[in-house]
Amino acid sequence: MTDFDRSKFEDVMKRLARHYNRKQSETDFAAWVRTYFHGLRKWEIDDVIHGAERIIETQRRFPLVAEWHELIRLAKRDLAPCPVNARQMTVSELAEHARAQALGYEDEPCNCVDCVRAHVDHLALRFVPCDDEVAFNPHTNRLMAVGYWLHGEGLGRWYAQHRSVYAQVRALGLKPERVFVRDETPEYEGA
Ligand SMILES: [Zn+2]
Repeated sequence: MTDFDRSKFEDVMKRLARHYNRKQSETDFAAWVRTYFHGLRKWEIDDVIHGAERIIETQRRFPLVAEWHELIRLAKRDLAPCPVNARQMTVSELAEHARAQALGYEDEPCNCVDCVRAHVDHLALRFVPCDDEVAFNPHTNRLMAVGYWLHGEGLGRWYAQHRSVYAQVRALGLKPERVFVRDETPEYEGA
């Protein structure tokens, strides 16, 4: 919720107060609204309203902030809330991430115009993280770099870089797998 949701939130609290027959002075009510608003502000106003409906359906008394949280969480089927400073991954991004992960971030060679022109149409496609675009994955409860499949020249560059790093690593007598962890897991802990 943002400050723009305050009046809507106050309406929700008034409705609950009526339902549970809570009588208090205007000053007390205002303080009470502030406390609950602050406690619940990580949720969207629609989630809070939906949670209030669940409260009325299921609770005998006015809930604590923690109980309200729990009802919202259940209503969202345990999906984690998106942090305020991040956007949520779209349904198609989530599906593509899941597919890429299942494939080991590698797909069949592609013969699109770009891949043919860059002479990479015999090489496996690679799914890579886009570091400057991070979004929240509600299934894993983590911020992830939004990934995409490389094609054409980008794919060619990836293989060239891969070969060069691989050669350097071998020259140092290290195990290449350790270096490519970043490529294998296009996700990282967010802020
Ligand atoms: Zn292609």
